[in-house]
Amino acid sequence: MISAPDRHPHDVLVIGAGGAGLRAAIEVAALGASVGLVCKSLLGKAHTVMAEGGVAAALGHVDDRDSWQTHFRDTMVGGKMLNNVRMAQLHALEAPARVRELEGWGAVFDRTRDGRILQRPFGGHTHPRLAHVGDRTGLEMIRTLQDRAVAMGIAVYMEHTITHLTTNPSGVTGAFGYRRLDGDAVVFPAKAILLATGGIGKAYEVTSNSWEYSGDGQALALRAGAELIDMEFVQFHPTGMVWPPGVRGLLVTEAVRGEGGILRNSDGERFMWQYLPEDRRHEYAATDEEARTWVEASSASRQTDARRPPELSTRDNVSRAIYTEVREGRGSPHGGVFLDISYLPADHVRRKLPSMYEQFKELAGVDITAGPMEVGPTTHYVMGGIRVDAETGATTVPGLFAAGEVAGGMHGANRLGGNSLSDLLVFGQRAGAGAAARAASIADDPYMNPVQIRAAEEELEAPLSRTGGTDPYRLREQLQATMQSLVGIYRTASDLKDAIARIGDIRHLADDLCVPGGRAFNPGWNLVFELRNLIDISDAIARSALVREESRGAHSRLDFPATEKAWVDRNVVVCRDGETLVVGTSPIPPMPKDVRALAEAGGGA
Ligand SMILES: Cc1cc2nc3c(=O)[nH]c(=O)nc-3n(C[C@H](O)[C@H](O)[C@H](O)COP(=O)(O)OP(=O)(O)OC[C@H]3O[C@@H](n4cnc5c(N)ncnc54)[C@H](O)[C@@H]3O)c2cc1C
Repeated sequence: MISAPDRHPHDVLVIGAGGAGLRAAIEVAALGASVGLVCKSLLGKAHTVMAEGGVAAALGHVDDRDSWQTHFRDTMVGGKMLNNVRMAQLHALEAPARVRELEGWGAVFDRTRDGRILQRPFGGHTHPRLAHVGDRTGLEMIRTLQDRAVAMGIAVYMEHTITHLTTNPSGVTGAFGYRRLDGDAVVFPAKAILLATGGIGKAYEVTSNSWEYSGDGQALALRAGAELIDMEFVQFHPTGMVWPPGVRGLLVTEAVRGEGGILRNSDGERFMWQYLPEDRRHEYAATDEEARTWVEASSASRQTDARRPPELSTRDNVSRAIYTEVREGRGSPHGGVFLDISYLPADHVRRKLPSMYEQFKELAGVDITAGPMEVGPTTHYVMGGIRVDAETGATTVPGLFAAGEVAGGMHGANRLGGNSLSDLLVFGQRAGAGAAARAASIADDPYMNPVQIRAAEEELEAPLSRTGGTDPYRLREQLQATMQSLVGIYRTASDLKDAIARIGDIRHLADDLCVPGGRAFNPGWNLVFELRNLIDISDAIARSALVREESRGAHSRLDFPATEKAWVDRNVVVCRDGETLVVGTSPIPPMPKDVRALAEAGGGA
């Protein structure tokens, strides 16, 4: 006998309590609507807390030549011109105000000598632009947003997993999930729902992401009728730990290269010089001496005309370079390359990169002030995601909104480091306002159809009531191995078709998942629902990658190595028709002439 689930009605329900969800919930509350904030783990434990390098905003504190226009252009160039132009504009324009707002709410950033927010250089950014707190920026950001949300009295539901959204012909009506503590069902009737659930890293074997990144929001949106765009663009961060095996994939922040870290192969060669794209080579230092001058100037927060080191090329490019070095036999003993910052004074390294120092000392027994680290690419971020309106975060389903990593468009084919934390603040605020406005326009209390609730409840119970079937852990391993080997940095049509067929088999086996035990804190049972989402999202990535017959940004096709003009104005779109995923393309409206000129200033796609 199933008892009636606990019920928590709100005007707006925000699913996800990272930077995007918290900023959105603060906006909803500030506009006077009732807001509930749900997260799978404890408040403060989202991915945002792991962010190390910083938040990008054209404050111009270290180099006053910086401007929103330059930030916009860097973002478009980094995204290979596939970005949603309006999102990239709003982001560059509003990031400085959002960072100052955060400071006003109590965030304590590192300082310039004259007491302003300090900014560090990062890959693909023309000027030092990342406001930071050592290499623990996300922690400070979450602490500040969390304090504010709690002080505003926002209702927080920790350790609750949302598994279903309910809808009627006018849009979303609420969310259904369970409490991880006892496994009991919970319903959240809401006039508007805002997804801020983050990324998809757990679709791969090697990732910088934690267990929480199982593509839940993307899959929930698909099932509710929303569209996903450009899911083929998965960012493989160039520098994850490669050894020991237990920490493979753990992030080595780009701040190491921003502070002067040099990449070398097993021959001792600084190989990034060979991999700079011809059309952008002029942006990078021509010699070791010039790169060194740049490092010294930026570490003293001094403006310089020296150009940046080759290690600060965009992430897609550095990842391909490392992959190629290893594949061609010039890798380090554990299958990576060397990243060296030990030529700088030890106390400077410990002060600028305290987490990295401890991470390598504790986990690998390596002192990064005395010798190089071993690093290699790791699955880090998804540029694709739910299609949203730039101004309001509205998806194509009425009442459903999205912000943060779960949303697509902002970063195009490749994200620049630091542009995610600023994205969370800018579009968290905008989507919060959008969701609050939608809620205010609806007079009636939201009504969740009991038939949909019962069906969701039966799905929860099914894997516990089967006596034989498939083990979810084994199936997830198969899925991750498939994605890692066939849908990784380099792709081909035959590998992608193979991946789609294998994911189809995995989907079939997932109909029969079976787990022992009950519902209270049962990780196997929790995995069942995450696996269902991972299967949908992996399928969407592989199918989108097959459709895009070119190489652009993070999507590299060995069988279509060129970046094709014909693809710059097309999104790859995924939606659901019953149980099947449907993949197609949709045109991107041409950029207004003045915006195109700005985006292309200093070079083409
Ligand atoms: C190690 C690391 C370092 C990084 N460093 C930087 C950096 O320096 N600068 C930068 O710009 N970016 C950085 N990034 C990227 C950036 O941190 C993330 O893209 C960003 O934090 C995502 O924020 P979010 O609010 O979208 O999601 P998150 O912060 O991940 O929050 C997601 C929330 O959704 C909840 N959730 C998920 N599914 C469900 C569900 N089914 N039900 C209920 N709740 C759910 C989770 O519990 C969590 O609360 C880094 C990422 C990593 C992994």
